[in-house]
Amino acid sequence: MNNGTEIPEIGFGTWQTTESVVNTVKTALAAGYRHIDTADIYGNEAEIGQALEESGIPRSELYITTKIWNSNRSSLGVKQSVENSLAKLKTNYIDLLLIHWPANEKQFDNWREINAETWKAMEEVYRSGVVKTIGVSNFMIPHLEALLESAEVIPAVNQIEFHPGYTQQETVDYCKEEGIVIEAWSPIGSGRLLKDETLNEMAEKYGVSPAIVCIQFCLQCGVVVLPKSENPENIKSNLHFERFKINEEDLKKLKNLEESGFSGLNPENVDF
Ligand code: NAP
Repeated sequence: MNNGTEIPEIGFGTWQTTESVVNTVKTALAAGYRHIDTADIYGNEAEIGQALEESGIPRSELYITTKIWNSNRSSLGVKQSVENSLAKLKTNYIDLLLIHWPANEKQFDNWREINAETWKAMEEVYRSGVVKTIGVSNFMIPHLEALLESAEVIPAVNQIEFHPGYTQQETVDYCKEEGIVIEAWSPIGSGRLLKDETLNEMAEKYGVSPAIVCIQFCLQCGVVVLPKSENPENIKSNLHFERFKINEEDLKKLKNLEESGFSGLNPENVDF
């Protein structure tokens, strides 16, 4: 990444885990995942901390991402949120800290200033060494352009919704140009893509499941991918499937699936 650190290309998503978070994360760690994606708002950091501790895996082998929720956009908010996350995750550093959502124009006249202030606090925790890498999530080009006007540290990551049928190509191109790594959230469209006809045809053609087509699609697009599952078999196969190559024509088809699996969450319009 732009600060010289490395990130495992497949991370384990933990949003809306309904079963035991401790057991699910332990299953993922046992399957070989070393990159776990969480957030303050997911309300599961303490369980993840417990799973990490009980796994016995050395901290240096783990890559933990968490995020600053929208109610903590102030300087004090960021610092307190980091302190809370560290305590819950039972660690003394966070590998990657993201601003979860940008303040947007719909809600705030001074959205630029709010995001700049949050970012300044992110830079401070980064410089303190307690956070190894900082980035953003759900930032679209106007949010990034405004942020970069005053940023002293360029975000290393932008975690956005990205999957077949919803690739936000302009944001991706902008980030690549600026050296910002894209992470794909909801790579399987939270499961909505599993019934997509084109995806199923392609899965049959390549002899894999539709979920694996989604994951391979992200990897071939040069995007870090964060699949989530609570099923032990799926957890395993999402990491260990035999790598294959989706051909150019099929990649194009997947990119252009008509808004398949879209969450409906547009960062310019959300009201939370
Ligand atoms: P997702 O990974 O797009 O999809 C998960 C769904 O796919 C589950 O229903 C799961 O069911 C199913 N699935 C997974 N692997 C499968 C397989 N091999 N075969 C069949 N079904 C499979 O889900 P997501 O949670 O929406 O997104 C992933 C992660 O992105 C989140 O957990 C979170 O960490 C992150 N995220 C971030 C943001 C943000 O604003 N930054 C927003 C949303 C998500 P089973 O449990 O039955 O396998």
